[in-house]
Amino acid sequence: MADDNKTHFGFNTVDRNEKAGMVAGVFHSVASRYDLMNDLMSGGIHRMWKRFTIELSGVRRGQRVLDIAGGTGDLAAKFSKLVGPTGQVVLADINSSMLEVGREKLTDKGIVANIDYVQANAECLPFPDDYFDCLTIAFGLRNVTDKDAALRSMHRVLKPGGRCLVLEFSKPQSDLLSKVYDQYSFNILPRMGQLVAGDSESYRYLAESIRMHPDQETLKDMMEDAGFANTSYYNMTGGIVAVHRGIKA
Ligand code: SAM
Repeated sequence: MADDNKTHFGFNTVDRNEKAGMVAGVFHSVASRYDLMNDLMSGGIHRMWKRFTIELSGVRRGQRVLDIAGGTGDLAAKFSKLVGPTGQVVLADINSSMLEVGREKLTDKGIVANIDYVQANAECLPFPDDYFDCLTIAFGLRNVTDKDAALRSMHRVLKPGGRCLVLEFSKPQSDLLSKVYDQYSFNILPRMGQLVAGDSESYRYLAESIRMHPDQETLKDMMEDAGFANTSYYNMTGGIVAVHRGIKA
């Protein structure tokens, strides 16, 4: 994009300083129906994508984990069990509505002892340098205005040797899958959003933002530019989703 003051909000070009507010509008609107919509839209497959991400994390008892853009807390809940009473999980998100739904859900599940909630922007994380053993961002990076700043900030707060995992929609690996996926995303998703969450626009943004997100190789390069070493990625569901992993050297 030629103009440095502009960025994408789905397929629209907007001022950079407007995007965060527009993204906030989306997640304030969908927060209460977010989990239900995730299950419906993905046919429950998002649980498998998240499980694989947890497996790649290698998180162990006693470790400190940050789940940024953690929303309703699916990953944080699993990390809480893995790190145990001597570990710590921070569920951070820029959006108060998503954090509130996440906190209520995890509290209802009895997850209270080793978890903290922080309202924070991934672009400027309010944590010390070299602090976390592992950091995850699931379906969050796509929504961040300055993705390079977010990756640098994530790199800064990781301990040397720590792992960063980015789970995100990516580029389907076959033309046929792309066509089917486009039909589904642009025709069915917004209708489902309207029916279940009373909001078709937010789900149109979801479909558009996925298409505007960097593909697998571009995101890998961006992680390397931010300082991550040993970067790699795994495609899931034919590349509809990919999980990238990088280590802080
Ligand atoms: N990680 C959760 C999951 O996988 O179910 C929630 C993903 S939800 C699609 C995206 C989340 O990113 C929202 O909760 C939103 O508030 C958060 N988000 C968007 N921009 C952000 C930013 N700049 N910093 C932190 N969180 C952000």
